[in-house]
Amino acid sequence: MQGSGSSSSTFASQPTNLLSEPCVICGLVGAGALLFIVVLWNGASNACPQCHKWWARQVQASHEIGRALSSRTQTSEAKTYSTSGQHVSTTRYKQRVPTERITYLNACQCKHCGHKWSDTSAVEHDL
Ligand SMILES: [Zn+2]
Repeated sequence: MQGSGSSSSTFASQPTNLLSEPCVICGLVGAGALLFIVVLWNGASNACPQCHKWWARQVQASHEIGRALSSRTQTSEAKTYSTSGQHVSTTRYKQRVPTERITYLNACQCKHCGHKWSDTSAVEHDL
């Protein structure tokens, strides 16, 4: 095997200051990727099953179809102070918080082709 492409020397001594602020750039890229995923997820979850256009879902009506008790884990902090008012220690502990999950049946309509369908959504709140 000879002459297969030009040899690029990427292993040569690279200057480490190519990206002057690598943390800022990594943060921006990370935030951008996260936003991208959220937008994709949001668009896809609001797509019409008929014409498949994103952000087409319009909720015409919704009504409650069920409630269920649930719970979530919450981390709390307890700070200990000495008699003179100085902070001594912080203890973190986890506790279960009771929640209620309400499920809704939604009547949806596509704002592009007018197709109608139904789906369910749920909201959860602390009791
Ligand atoms: Zn549609």
